[in-house]
Amino acid sequence: MDFKLNKTHLLQQEMFRRFAENEVKPLAEEMDETEIYNMELLAKMHKVGLMGIPYSKEYGGVGGDYLGYSLAMEEISKHDGSSGITISVHTSLACSCVDGFGTEEQKQMWLRPMVDGSKTGCYGLTEPNAGSDAAGQQTKAVLDGDHYIINGTKIFTTNSGFADTFVMFAMTDKSAGTKGISCFVMDKSTPGLTVGPNIKRMGIRAAQNCEVSYENVRVPVSQRIGKEGAGFKIAMKALDGGRIGIAAQSVGIAQGALNEAIKYVKERKQFGKRISSFQNTQFKIAELQTQIDAARLLTWRAAVSKDDHENFAQNAAMAKLFASEMVNDVCRAAVQLMGGYGYCREYPVERALRDAKITEIYEGTSEVMKMVIAGSMKIF
Ligand SMILES: Cc1cc2nc3c(=O)[nH]c(=O)nc-3n(C[C@H](O)[C@H](O)[C@H](O)COP(=O)(O)OP(=O)(O)OC[C@H]3O[C@@H](n4cnc5c(N)ncnc54)[C@H](O)[C@@H]3O)c2cc1C
Repeated sequence: MDFKLNKTHLLQQEMFRRFAENEVKPLAEEMDETEIYNMELLAKMHKVGLMGIPYSKEYGGVGGDYLGYSLAMEEISKHDGSSGITISVHTSLACSCVDGFGTEEQKQMWLRPMVDGSKTGCYGLTEPNAGSDAAGQQTKAVLDGDHYIINGTKIFTTNSGFADTFVMFAMTDKSAGTKGISCFVMDKSTPGLTVGPNIKRMGIRAAQNCEVSYENVRVPVSQRIGKEGAGFKIAMKALDGGRIGIAAQSVGIAQGALNEAIKYVKERKQFGKRISSFQNTQFKIAELQTQIDAARLLTWRAAVSKDDHENFAQNAAMAKLFASEMVNDVCRAAVQLMGGYGYCREYPVERALRDAKITEIYEGTSEVMKMVIAGSMKIF
């Protein structure tokens, strides 16, 4: 058992850290204020390979692994949760469906441009009436010769505001339940595909998260990923991997907030002393760092079990459950450590606290994580 990163991962971590400090941090506050993601930053993230880390060089990816991807998610999210989710949805949801279940031809056509830095992907599973119960899809895909005709509405599709490639799910056979859902990939320019405005939210405000409607969208059968009826399995497999990214995002947001609070308490004086000299402050920081480290280790365990091709779903759900609850506790405490200034937009812990909440909701709520963990434990 080795809890240390190897040389390659340490080098990657250093590179991601520098990129996050130099390129992401300076833009984070403005992007949050304007609720617009900076397209030059997105292009830079593609250029340096941040959008293709765990994908084979054969398709233009970096040829890294999920542990490396988790390190990137942590470093980027330390400064900006919105950039974290932009990378995550593209990498572990959109790309993974094509990588895991696409044919060679589909990988060349759809995966290559997403991992070689040319195109951004999104993933549409959730519908207005199908959230935690994703099997309740109402979007339909009806076969018509060698095409499907898709009709329905997806909600909360992250990246859809600027994505080029849409991976989405629709019912091909309602009577078959979860075995009646299929997965499709298409270009944003496909007639009948319409993206609504960015949904106003509490946090990760720069991420582009919209309603997407599909009205008589015709896609050739060659754009169905996997077999007809395999869509639910594809969607869930992608979410298992995605949860490792959200756990890493949580660790990053938490570490970023705690680092800011530590900087502040070392400078701020009350009662004639630095507030870092109060034992209450020191004990609180000790507890928070311990929580963050525990979440990081769970995240790395989940990533390594995926990289080792083990059954990683339970590890991923545990990492997400623990890390997402941890980041909310840590950010609330970081604001408290900084008093009134922590509550002001001038300091990034205010944004971190707002960004933290969503980690308990997307890619499966905490309650759904408990269902996954209990299910894997075969206790019922
Ligand atoms: C900012 C943001 C980004 C997102 N990005 C994407 C994306 O890119 N692609 C995508 O497809 N989706 C995305 N989602 C959707 C997200 O995954 C869902 O919001 C989430 O799965 C929960 O679904 P819901 O919002 O419909 O809540 P509901 O399913 O209605 O849940 C409401 C509450 O009920 C609880 N609950 C539900 N069922 C049970 C049960 N059986 N037992 C106990 N409690 C239960 C839930 O845990 C939750 O607390 C995003 C959402 C947001 C807000």
